[in-house]
Amino acid sequence: MIDFRSDTVTQPCQQMRLLMSNAQVGDDVYGDDPTVNELEQWAAKRHGFAASLFVSSGTQANLLGILSHCERGDEYLCGQSAHNYRYEAGGAAVLGSVQPQPIENEPDGSLCFNKLASAIKPDDSHFARTRLLSLENTIGGKVLSLAYLKQARAFTYKHQLALHLDGARVYNAAVALNVDIKEISQYFDSMTVCLSKGLGAPVGSLLLGDEAFIKKARRLRKMLGGGMRQAGILAAAGYYALTHNVSRLAEDHENAQYLAHQLNTLPGFDTQNYAVHTNIVLVDIDEKVDIFAISAALKEQGIIITPGYQGMRFVTHKDVTRDDVDRLISAMAKLLN
Ligand SMILES: *Cc1c(COP(=O)(O)O)cnc(C)c1O
Repeated sequence: MIDFRSDTVTQPCQQMRLLMSNAQVGDDVYGDDPTVNELEQWAAKRHGFAASLFVSSGTQANLLGILSHCERGDEYLCGQSAHNYRYEAGGAAVLGSVQPQPIENEPDGSLCFNKLASAIKPDDSHFARTRLLSLENTIGGKVLSLAYLKQARAFTYKHQLALHLDGARVYNAAVALNVDIKEISQYFDSMTVCLSKGLGAPVGSLLLGDEAFIKKARRLRKMLGGGMRQAGILAAAGYYALTHNVSRLAEDHENAQYLAHQLNTLPGFDTQNYAVHTNIVLVDIDEKVDIFAISAALKEQGIIITPGYQGMRFVTHKDVTRDDVDRLISAMAKLLN
């Protein structure tokens, strides 16, 4: 199967599986898993934070991050299209009584500081307390510039807000900018990293922050039922992902550029409205094209896509090669004919 739906479909490679099967493990809820401890210590240092926590998913990492920054009756500022606003089942509101204050994202994925400033509530008993700004990088595959992140840091200092990064795909941003991950992480009080997307681990995310913040998050993780026992088997995969699968993301980005270019040559396909910064390709499809029928026919040929019309998404990753892209394009060209 060639799967363009998401980079979450990546399979753990043989070397990763070997490291997993050989990992020393213990009960991590007792703090006894040496592989988890090693990953958490290594990851904190690697990303320029004092501490880190290995968690089950990106959704849990964001939830723990927001709940560790905010109390009941607080609010966080975020993008209208932020993952932790739209796609996480309202977790911060449901489980933490923390209200989101979404702001429309600009076309480049950023949030306008004037709009953010006017959404900050005065210190008055009518209002929720605005505590946190949450950004996302990459967002919809787009990279936020280092200059923008620096401005966000200044903005949050000025308004006494904490600054969180949903960095599910932050390594795609670092590779696209050709900078070390710390060039991005330095601006944030907390950051998440998904190990199970383009980095290729089967399970797991990191939450990074200072000692007190991670201590609070560790308690909340237990409360959510997220305390894991011999989790070193998973942490070993995460360590492998971070030490072997980062620089190769450039290949996914090149394949995405190529895919966008090739898609644009198909009748009724238009990629012009979307820049490709990383591994996500968006395309508008003419309504005369029966993309659902095409999707069903492709599946019979072992190619999986998520059909749609406005901004239909294709994602490249380590289990998709340039040849696979060519196979997709020629199969679609035939079906369109
Ligand atoms: C995938 C994703 C998440 C959530 O990660 P899961 O591991 O799927 O829970 C959070 N934020 C962003 C930006 C993502 O792309």
